[in-house]
Amino acid sequence: MYHLVKYWAIHMKSGGNYAETAHKQGFIAVRWKIGDLTLLKHIKPSLLKNEIQELSDKYYFAVTGQGVGSIKRFVLEVRKDDYVLLPNPNERTVHFGQVLGDYEYVHEHEDDCPYPQRRAVQWLTTISRNRLPEQLKASLKSQQTFFSLKKHKNTIDEILKEVEADKDEIEFNTTLLEVCGNDEDLASVLTLAGFEVPEDLSDVDHEDLRAILAEQDYTLSNKDTKALFEEVEKYLDDINEMQEGFKDRTESIPERQAVTTQRIIRDNQTSAQLKKLYRFECQICGIKLQLPQGPYAEAAHIKPLGSPHNGPDILENLLCLCPNHHVLFDNGAFAIDDDLSLIGLEGSLIVSPKHKIDQKYFSYHRTHFAK
Ligand SMILES: [Zn+2]
Repeated sequence: MYHLVKYWAIHMKSGGNYAETAHKQGFIAVRWKIGDLTLLKHIKPSLLKNEIQELSDKYYFAVTGQGVGSIKRFVLEVRKDDYVLLPNPNERTVHFGQVLGDYEYVHEHEDDCPYPQRRAVQWLTTISRNRLPEQLKASLKSQQTFFSLKKHKNTIDEILKEVEADKDEIEFNTTLLEVCGNDEDLASVLTLAGFEVPEDLSDVDHEDLRAILAEQDYTLSNKDTKALFEEVEKYLDDINEMQEGFKDRTESIPERQAVTTQRIIRDNQTSAQLKKLYRFECQICGIKLQLPQGPYAEAAHIKPLGSPHNGPDILENLLCLCPNHHVLFDNGAFAIDDDLSLIGLEGSLIVSPKHKIDQKYFSYHRTHFAK
């Protein structure tokens, strides 16, 4: 059933400051030593005050008139998802949390807080007391144990919204790094997403990542980070898909295993990045092969890998080709001129503006392979 979320504050400094324990253990609690108050739920509202006074007499624990109000609110009025603020006088901070559960009487517990009247809370953030608006700060000085902050609803909403936004940004940095695992992969992913990334990311503090992106007039709003994440996810999906595709090919075409395996080894981050850049379309004919496992293209080294050519495995030395044009190119059936026109075939090479090919490799290929 729908209910309006409420806003509360609690003091946990009676007989000691237990805010820290409550924050660590995820609860709020009150000291009233008057037994299990679950029974109050079954008392008529008009008789509550009497009942609480009777409990107070029975347990020899004084409950003031204000105390009665606190008890009623804590036990009967708080609902799951209500917000609660807990000042921590030692730290000069205020913990912001959200109520997770029902009122509980916890007589035996492992922590050092002796308060038995409790509710589970999920802490959302901690804010320095000095950073809070004056009016909210003043309200938190109330002498009551548990009280409503209804009139500060907007202020609290505002603070929590900011916290949420910050969290998204922090999550962006850490998650992106977790996904990528290392700087090299991170650089590939960012390049792919259209950023200019410094060559050596190892010196870059990950906290500085945002600054680097900002330098390029790219402010990471939450919407942007979401888009970037989707890009990254799609990229990783493509890589997986491709690897699956290769695996299936290897298994189903045993006589070509040697060749295919070699290509698997070659299909590292760089070639995956290249294929993604061209959406698996051949740079010669524009054809994209669609296998049941997903799109298929091959990364062709212009100056071949391995002895005696020892070409590098970098984007500048790679072409994204269909298998036919890969074989034709490797065997010198056609070559590429410095102006990107084809020698031995009609037309010219399709090149993405994000793909900088080093012409010296074309020249090497022409010299060593073109017939
Ligand atoms: Zn082709």
